[in-house]
Amino acid sequence: MRDIIYLDHAASAPLHPQVLAAMTEGALLTGNPSSVHSAGQALRQAIDRARDAVAAMIGSDPAEVIFTSGATESNNSAIQGIFSAIAERFPGRTLRVMASPIEHPSVAEPLRSLAGSPGVEIAYLPVDGEGRVGADDVRRSLTEDTVLVCVMWVNNILGSVQPVEEIGRVVAEARAARPKGAPPLYFVCDAVQAASWRPISVAAARVDALSLSAHKIGGPKGVGALFLRRGVQFKPLIVGGGQEEGRRSGTENAAGIIGLGRAAELAVADRETEAARCRQIRCALVSGIGGAVKGARILGADGERAAPGIVYVQFPKWRGDLLAMKLDAAGFAVSSGSACDAGSRQAPEALNAVYGEKMARHGGIRVSFGRQTTPADIDQLLGALGRL
Ligand code: PMP
Repeated sequence: MRDIIYLDHAASAPLHPQVLAAMTEGALLTGNPSSVHSAGQALRQAIDRARDAVAAMIGSDPAEVIFTSGATESNNSAIQGIFSAIAERFPGRTLRVMASPIEHPSVAEPLRSLAGSPGVEIAYLPVDGEGRVGADDVRRSLTEDTVLVCVMWVNNILGSVQPVEEIGRVVAEARAARPKGAPPLYFVCDAVQAASWRPISVAAARVDALSLSAHKIGGPKGVGALFLRRGVQFKPLIVGGGQEEGRRSGTENAAGIIGLGRAAELAVADRETEAARCRQIRCALVSGIGGAVKGARILGADGERAAPGIVYVQFPKWRGDLLAMKLDAAGFAVSSGSACDAGSRQAPEALNAVYGEKMARHGGIRVSFGRQTTPADIDQLLGALGRL
């Protein structure tokens, strides 16, 4: 029996039992994947199978997939690794990075550190009232100094889906129009919250780097992947033994990587049915919330522009953080921001950017769900909110 109704899948989804089984088997393999003996080579093969599974999920070549310690590392590596490679080639030149103002802190913070260096400009794109960036705004804001465009696929607080394919097209066109010898232009996309809901094609989205995290798709915590398109200039953040083709040194987290591979296969297998099922659950929550609590308001996008499993609700009579605590006492796990912001007690930046500081400080709750969630869970949540 479940003692808590877990509605915080966007913070971390429960480990899939088949992932656990694959990881247990992988953890028992002895050896170092870099060793030439057969024990090491068995591990190498298991890691390569996981790489194939992740590559299949995003439509890339397996050689373009780098395993990392999670999406925080993937995002840091993509931004710092690409930017510093370009900066080394163009010393003394002003280089500009464009980003949405609703990025996860693992993108926002590396950008902030870049902003402290001389000759670096960071420009933030506008977002609309649903928390979405427009491809036309990207086109208008691009300059010949722009070397990186960072826009996430699905926002982790509001669930708003960004027009990634359109942005990819704009970036690709601008790149094609660049004169020979000019700095390159790359599109970096954090797809962590998109992976369990929608097909991801790095070719269709024309992204140059893309981040994934295992624990948002039923895999283990502490492992992720970075897609890095072949030929993209990149200076590795972590150097040492030269693993991952020199792009990320360190003995591979074999059990975690095997878990990520299995989670990727499972996500691809049931993504479509789960997205449709969760969309119905989302609709029930969205349409029932006003009746349960007067004045409740859904923030962010709706319909196809919203992720099927993320809803952000604001209540005039309760501050988000306090309500999340009340709900915890009542047996419901929800979030009042992103897990990464929770410890700092700061309002999530995404809310600030879309709705302003006052609204963001008052906050709300993020209800996020997935495979284990049933319509009855939402009925119970609505009932509990109505009784508070
Ligand atoms: N990006 C987004 C959009 C996320 O939601 C998260 C997890 N909160 C991350 C990056 C960081 O992922 P990880 O926990 O694997 O470091």
